[in-house]
Amino acid sequence: MVMKLNNNGDQCVLNCHHCGNKTQMNRIAHYDRSVTDKFHLMLNALTEITFYTEGDLYLCPVCDNVTLVKTSKNTENIDPEDFSMEATETILYPGISIYGNGVPNVVR
Ligand SMILES: [Zn+2]
Repeated sequence: MVMKLNNNGDQCVLNCHHCGNKTQMNRIAHYDRSVTDKFHLMLNALTEITFYTEGDLYLCPVCDNVTLVKTSKNTENIDPEDFSMEATETILYPGISIYGNGVPNVVR
């Protein structure tokens, strides 16, 4: 099962670190993979944790550059309110550079 963090289908509003615009970008590529490992949390208890990694490549319509966003989550990191996996998003490309006000945008 693939859980989608961005609910707009193939579009997502992102801050473009190339041109500095916050704009709706088209997703042009996506990948996801998962790995399940077994862990001994207690002496005889075996717990399985599945780690998910997703990558999304977005094209900025303003400057025609791409932004690569990696999403990481696992089955041990659950939101207590809606029981969804808490995801961590990292912008892999471009590297966050000083632009505009010089303050990088906070990534969830
Ligand atoms: Zn741009």
